[in-house]
Amino acid sequence: MSGFIVTSIFSYTVARYSLTDRIVDETLPLISENIYLETQNKLDRHIVISSQMAQDTFVQDWIVEGEKDSSRIEKYLATILQNSQIFTVFFISDITKRYYHPNGQIRYIDQDNVGDKWYFKARSQKRNYDVIISEDEMNDGVLSVFINFKIYNEQGDFLGITGVGLSLDNIQKLLDSYQDLHGRRVYIVNKKGVILFHSMGERLLSNNAAMAPPFDKIQNTTKTNIAYENNGKTVFLSSRYDEKFQWYLIVEEDESYSNTPILKTLLINLSGAGSITIIVLFLSHLTINGYQKRLEQMATVDHLTKAMNRHAFDLLFSQEIKKQKRQKNNPLSVVMFDIDHFKSVNDKYGHQVGDEVLAYVSGIFQSQIRSSDVLCRWGGEEFIILLPNCDKTEATKLANEVRRKISESKFLSSGGELTITVSGGVAEYLDGDEADNLLFRSDKALYQAKENGRNKIEISI
Ligand code: GH3
Ligand code: MG
Ligand code: MG
Repeated sequence: MSGFIVTSIFSYTVARYSLTDRIVDETLPLISENIYLETQNKLDRHIVISSQMAQDTFVQDWIVEGEKDSSRIEKYLATILQNSQIFTVFFISDITKRYYHPNGQIRYIDQDNVGDKWYFKARSQKRNYDVIISEDEMNDGVLSVFINFKIYNEQGDFLGITGVGLSLDNIQKLLDSYQDLHGRRVYIVNKKGVILFHSMGERLLSNNAAMAPPFDKIQNTTKTNIAYENNGKTVFLSSRYDEKFQWYLIVEEDESYSNTPILKTLLINLSGAGSITIIVLFLSHLTINGYQKRLEQMATVDHLTKAMNRHAFDLLFSQEIKKQKRQKNNPLSVVMFDIDHFKSVNDKYGHQVGDEVLAYVSGIFQSQIRSSDVLCRWGGEEFIILLPNCDKTEATKLANEVRRKISESKFLSSGGELTITVSGGVAEYLDGDEADNLLFRSDKALYQAKENGRNKIEISI
């Protein structure tokens, strides 16, 4: 008899412990891992969508051509909306102050309208992207999070702002239902332990409470899976530190909810993970610091040519110049390239083919340079290659190889076979140079190459 009791208690204890262990060691970590990975994907996609719209030559051309036939831009916006899970998408022209929306409505933004103030603020700021929370006037004033990018033409003129939006209400509802169904709490906590957001249904943006213990066990760890006591109840907790956003994503679950069969728990976890990602995606917008870091990362590449964009290159180049000032006797060169008669490609075959040529040429550049060299799309059809540890003789050799390779290849575009040529100007860093001097000299050499008949490389003396 006593043996039976002992065995029962023992097995109960074992079962309980293994359940606890499994929740702590497997289930919760799995969900936070899922959230983490999915967040990265979703977030990246939204930023990319917005940034691509801003860089799309279709949008730029349509503005420059006078915003004729608004159904074209509406169709474009609608396609973007259709192909993604975003809530809304818009484009505002700075020239006409028209706000275009995929549903065909057009309104005019106005400096005196409180709801439009963000535009004029963003316009005067240097940053070319922004994350704002505002009412979506085109959707019954629903509170939304917008990821916006400024649009510039190749001369650097500001043309307007384009963006994608997510509705806050949808996000909050999802979060609430998640809480009800699974009894699980999700927190986002910053490095100091301040709760940036949690799933307890309160309105967003006002959660500045400090995270209760056991934050001390979470702080400074990349992953933590523990069980702790709270008011006599066991709480399972799984946390994961997100390096990019510099926050902890914490999922908590009370013991009472955990007495479901393991498999069921697991399934619930997994089905919850999908919807929760949207919430976390939203959260990432709130921690502006982390978010902007991400935006910067995402916005370093020109989507058409996959070369580094000018903004990122500027930063990198000035760092390289600083390094150059410190360490003598290490050569540094730049080559500025420009596609010859590119305008006539556009005129003859259309912009689409022009774009194909840009991507094609960029691909050849990329395939010819060393891994330490940096390729940047400087402007419309201008590229710069930064060559560390390379003097002008070597740089000229490489530039000529690239030039020859391009001129000797045939490019099969969607408009037919094309022969493309490029001209280039080489300049080497001289003592006392700033980035601008070097660029100026390579540009002058490039001009010389054009003067000398194109499909040539010239060196700045
Ligand atoms: P040159 O040999 O003197 O360089 O002649 P060019 O025709 O190449 O020179 P120009 O600078 O006059 O023309 C550049 C053209 O590049 C003008 C612009 O329409 C086009 N362009 C700029 N960016 C893009 C783009 O992203 N896509 C396409 N398709 N065309 C672009
Ligand atoms: Mg040019
Ligand atoms: Mg050109």
